[in-house]
Amino acid sequence: MRCRLAEGRTQVVFGSGNPGADLMFVGEAPGFHEDKQGVPFVGQAGKLLEKLLGGIGLARDDVYIANVLKCRPPGNRDPMPDEIEACEGHLWKQISLIEPTVVATLGNFATKLLSGRPTGITRVHGQEQEVELGGRSVLLYPLYHPAAALYTPRMLEVLESDFRRLPELLGRTVVPASGSEPQTSVLEAPELAVQLGLF
Ligand code: URA
Repeated sequence: MRCRLAEGRTQVVFGSGNPGADLMFVGEAPGFHEDKQGVPFVGQAGKLLEKLLGGIGLARDDVYIANVLKCRPPGNRDPMPDEIEACEGHLWKQISLIEPTVVATLGNFATKLLSGRPTGITRVHGQEQEVELGGRSVLLYPLYHPAAALYTPRMLEVLESDFRRLPELLGRTVVPASGSEPQTSVLEAPELAVQLGLF
């Protein structure tokens, strides 16, 4: 009820998936189908997202999916700055409750909001960065929006290739914001222990 979008929505599209997920996706805003069904990414872009997830051995239920805006902008127009400001508190709270290790932003709006920088997705896609979100240090991983990739074959190739790095990023532990220890991989840690003769 904090902004004008409440007047035109069918329902709030809060988010869906595994509340204990390590990987969280953040899109832009609900579209026509999401507004009707109350679930994010159920249209064509959602089908592509599911396909990409399948390619790395994950299903929708393994991850958590949310959007910057929880209500559909009329005619699927871009979110307005005051709408993002009114809604962002819900996203911060979601991130602090889910406690993901990797937050993959889909497209420009989520990337700019969560990175706190104005640099567009074309320049930062596929480049992970450590940021503090919801009071925790997480790995932010900007990706092209699947809806854009649906119509641009070159973008789809890039999105697929960026997606393939997700398992590696999920295997990483993130050093707390205040720490200065080098990053270690949880996947490599047991091997290292064996090498050191601990097992
Ligand atoms: N595009 C988005 O950004 N989010 C959705 O939920 C659907 C399409």
